[in-house]
Amino acid sequence: MKLRLAAWLTMLIMLFGGCSAIREAERNLFLMDTTISLRVFGDNADAALTEIAERLSVFDRDFSHVRDDGELYRINNRENQTVDITDEMSDILTTAKKYAEETRGAFDPTIAPAVKLWGIGTENPRVPEEAELRALLPYIDYRKIDISEKKLTLPRGFSINLGAIAKGYASDDARRVLDKHGIGSAVLSLGGNVYARGARPDGTPWRVGVRDPEGTENDILGIIEAEDKYIISSGDYERYFERSGARYHHILDPKTAAPADNSLRAVVIVCDEGARGDAYSTALFVMGYDAALEFWREKRDFEAVFVLKDNRVVVTEGIAESFSQRNESGRYTYETAKR
Ligand code: ADP
Ligand code: MG
Repeated sequence: MKLRLAAWLTMLIMLFGGCSAIREAERNLFLMDTTISLRVFGDNADAALTEIAERLSVFDRDFSHVRDDGELYRINNRENQTVDITDEMSDILTTAKKYAEETRGAFDPTIAPAVKLWGIGTENPRVPEEAELRALLPYIDYRKIDISEKKLTLPRGFSINLGAIAKGYASDDARRVLDKHGIGSAVLSLGGNVYARGARPDGTPWRVGVRDPEGTENDILGIIEAEDKYIISSGDYERYFERSGARYHHILDPKTAAPADNSLRAVVIVCDEGARGDAYSTALFVMGYDAALEFWREKRDFEAVFVLKDNRVVVTEGIAESFSQRNESGRYTYETAKR
């Protein structure tokens, strides 16, 4: 009898001990021009988190179009048309070109001269003249990016901006770090890019808020439940300036070199790859609602939430079940898009 009790006690202690032993490592950073929050669970949480943070600071330097000590700066200030590039740069540029092709240039990393001209997100943004914008158009064309092995060839006058893909790419890299350290549960948020790794430590899905474009940072219009997914947003509320009552935001249409102007306010992509989700969220925002829905019907490898200017929220069929409405302002109407 006594022995039995001792065995029970041991088991109980093991159980509780087991529960409280789930390690959690957490860190908040400001890198890649955005606020980043990392939460990692499991035995190797600290090591995984440290490695992810180190990788992010390398990306912050090498993929930045503002820092002057990284690889992208070296590319954009090259003297010859052909330059040597690292494996990592070759990889992200190849990936970027692939998504530019798929989206027929709605996402285009050669948008750089237009980003610079508008200066959105800098201290001195301005509205350029029509003629200035027109003069840039010959220098926006992803087809001019030529990568062979470890060399990049890019004509004079062209430059690269990775702002619409770097964070997604970084979150794919983080996934591989988590794999290496055997981490089953984590949530990584890089600005509007969330990677929900596995389930929460208690086994329930992660819950990711969809931002209300009219509200502040903490206001949401819905929640997506997700496991092992990337949830990536682009919207006109993220970065913008106002002049004479007009809003000029940071997502530019490569066809006009001006902010995309259609019926969309925000696009959220739910998919299995960060770089893909990041490029698509920007591209679909540029395409506009009808073309974006068409793209979704064609591709079949992602789901989406569209927030329209007329306050309709359209959730694609594949995630309708995992989406729940939060309509505190009463502003929104919700519908499901069918294949
Ligand atoms: P965020 O950076 O807020 O997550 P996006 O992923 O949509 O938003 O990226 C927007 C950034 O990408 C801009 O700040 C700019 O640097 C760059 N960019 C803007 N328009 C395009 C475009 N059509 N294609 C590729 N990059 C773009
Ligand atoms: Mg993007």
